[in-house]
Amino acid sequence: MRSDIEIANAAVLRPIREVAAETLGIEEQHLVPYGHFKAKVDLGYLASLEDRPLGRLVLVTALSPTPPGEGKTTTTVGLTDALHGLGHRVVACLREPSMGPVFGMKGGAAGGGWSQVVPMTDINLHFTGDFAAIAAANNLLAALIDNHVHHGNALDLDTRSITWKRVLDVNDRALREVVVGLGGHANGFTREDGFDIVVASELMAIFCLTESWADLKRRIGDIVVGYDRSSQPVTARDLGAHGAMAALLRDALAPNLVQTLEGAPAFVHGGPFANIAHGCSSVAATRAGLRLADVVVTEAGFGADLGAEKFVDIKCRKSGLRPDVAVVVATVRALKYHGGVALADLGAEDLAAVEAGMVNLRRHLDNVRGVYGIGCVVAVNRFPTDTDAEVAKVVELCAAEGVEAHPATHFSDGGVGARDLAQGVLRSLAEPPAYEFGYTYPDELSLTGKVEAVATRLYGASLVTWDARARRRLERIERDGYGALPVCVAKTQYSFSTDPTALGAPSGHELHVREVRLSAGAGFVVVVCGDMMTMPGLPATPAAGRIDLADDGTILGLS
Ligand code: ADP
Ligand code: MG
Repeated sequence: MRSDIEIANAAVLRPIREVAAETLGIEEQHLVPYGHFKAKVDLGYLASLEDRPLGRLVLVTALSPTPPGEGKTTTTVGLTDALHGLGHRVVACLREPSMGPVFGMKGGAAGGGWSQVVPMTDINLHFTGDFAAIAAANNLLAALIDNHVHHGNALDLDTRSITWKRVLDVNDRALREVVVGLGGHANGFTREDGFDIVVASELMAIFCLTESWADLKRRIGDIVVGYDRSSQPVTARDLGAHGAMAALLRDALAPNLVQTLEGAPAFVHGGPFANIAHGCSSVAATRAGLRLADVVVTEAGFGADLGAEKFVDIKCRKSGLRPDVAVVVATVRALKYHGGVALADLGAEDLAAVEAGMVNLRRHLDNVRGVYGIGCVVAVNRFPTDTDAEVAKVVELCAAEGVEAHPATHFSDGGVGARDLAQGVLRSLAEPPAYEFGYTYPDELSLTGKVEAVATRLYGASLVTWDARARRRLERIERDGYGALPVCVAKTQYSFSTDPTALGAPSGHELHVREVRLSAGAGFVVVVCGDMMTMPGLPATPAAGRIDLADDGTILGLS
């Protein structure tokens, strides 16, 4: 089979204005084209659709991720193509890829095989410049902070308490911790600073949770950049930064429209990390999709304990959105890995391991149905090494849980390969909901109570413990009036616990909170359990080494 980029580069794309008109009924004057194959959809036009009834929302999530990969994005695209092929008005909503993983370990994030969004190289590299706009606005605030201190520090900002970092969209470990303001009097006050990757920034999270310019500016104004010397929070509004920052983001806030290999529409917009932030594409795009189409298929990052939890407890809570059904992606390989098979042996048939690994999927299904109250359909994303007996085993094990599982071959066959899955999703959408949608915890619960609710209800933990500093910080955040915010737990995606090697469904473990950070503009409190990378490094053999530009202008080597 051809590589992802070979398939994508050989695709014949339709002009995006035709895709927009034919699939979503958007007239050309409402598009802001970026070349022929990418366009933003005008926010004023989207606001004018306010009275339209909303379509149905399909949330694609997965079991706990494993090194071989599960294929949530690929399945989101495949399911969208299948529904499109069946004649439904459908749109996919995906995150914009970060260039950190593109040049680092994981590679691109535009789907795979015959289930991709295109133009693939554009989407993976710069795209429509949204991340550059977010970086510019983020770094403007950083510059305004240091400038404020330089010119007399009227706000009495304690420079040791500044939490606002500079950002760029490249994995660059050398910039994790830096000293700024070296070189004497003219260059300001020397202090320790650091860089995060753009997708880990609070501004990215804000961007993805807002739908209007007014709300964007208000949220930016609420950002707490540090504390003054009497321990009061200092905000971006105090620095007068919010207006200019919002101005830089004006155009970026309109969702980007592209197409799948089969000509279905896809919004690719925003891309926050799923650890320090909530890991979902923008609310602006989701809402636009729900107004323009009958079905929106969207992906949340990592497994259902992290991405889907944040989708529900952060994105839905803040926007009022509600998923109508969840597609939980599972693979035979991931189940075997959770069932104790080593990475190198995943190619060999092992029905007992599939059954043993089911403990992981089962807990996710229980959480999605029992805690979030969303009905589930399992997508068995087929890989070439899967045997029919193994796939049948997954279907049988899911049936025992009362969940339909549909083997899908969209990676090799495109939309037709996900037709059964699409039919299953449509059947589920047609039935009255079997569960009542709900959050993991109410707003009123204390921040500690919220962390305990997530830990015990979703992770199977029996106890939450706190570093003394984290506990003090949490008390301070509550005292400052942020106690009603939801929490955003940052922990390893590989396990329900904080130990990435504890596969399957560990229980009775302890969730230890190491650090707490306030994202007042985004509107959540980040609770860090274990190590968290907000500026990843590049691996020994970065993907960048394989990426090339041919003499005819073709981009090669992206995966
Ligand atoms: P996720 O969104 O869960 O991180 P992706 O959809 O990005 O996963 O897929 C991860 C990688 O696995 C991609 O390189 C993709 O091309 C590959 N992949 C996904 N599904 C399949 C499949 N069925 N067969 C082979 N490779 C696949
Ligand atoms: Mg993905």
